[in-house]
Amino acid sequence: MTRRLRIGHLYADFMNVYGDRGNVLALLYRCRARGIEADVATAAAGERFDPSAFDLLLMGGGQDGEQRRVADDLQLHGEAIRAAVADGMPVLAVCGGYQLFGRRYVDDQGNVLPGIAVFDLETRHPGTRANRCVGNVVVDTPLGEVVGFENHGGRTFLAPGQEPFGRVRRGLGNNAKDGTEGARRGNAIGTYLHGSLLPKNPAVTDFLIRRALERREGRAVDLEPLEDTAERAAHARAIALAMRKR
Ligand code: GLN
Repeated sequence: MTRRLRIGHLYADFMNVYGDRGNVLALLYRCRARGIEADVATAAAGERFDPSAFDLLLMGGGQDGEQRRVADDLQLHGEAIRAAVADGMPVLAVCGGYQLFGRRYVDDQGNVLPGIAVFDLETRHPGTRANRCVGNVVVDTPLGEVVGFENHGGRTFLAPGQEPFGRVRRGLGNNAKDGTEGARRGNAIGTYLHGSLLPKNPAVTDFLIRRALERREGRAVDLEPLEDTAERAAHARAIALAMRKR
């Protein structure tokens, strides 16, 4: 039986900064290296798409201007995406995409951009005079140690009971105050980590692939381990850079 995964990449044209498209490449590479047929379909603003046609959804980051261009369109798919997540669909939403998977994002001009409320959180941009949260980040998560790069103006606050993706060991995370980073709901992950995230964090990539296959096949799935020398070296190097004395 040939295994197959259908990856949906939301707003790949507007929401793609700091190498986010690399997350698609990492998923494709780790699927194909195991003989899993994987294909990607992008969905742009104004295009109808049905989340149930996919096994895994990705959304990258973007500056406030891009977020203003896609927020209303994303609303049209909110209910279907929430239903798919409640049914166990894996999602990776990064930075500006992560913010729009929350309840709302108050942008750098004070505009209230509605979110699709997959995560119970709100984000507020303190205004363009305030410092951005920029730099290398190390996060301790249930999936292990994760490393990446953050660059965001918005500060995100999780509602009581909303699980974070992890705890910041180095970096600013959601709001530079409470030590949380990102958010998690079932197999859906929201994070501020760019870089791109997945190439140097193979444990997160394999988590998304495994959960997508388990949901598709309705049974537990063991993924064949891959060689990963380059991934581990990139991960270790990024950790060393992030943890360097400042
Ligand atoms: N525009 C958002 C912010 O500044 C997200 C930025 C991003 O995706 N890198 O917070």
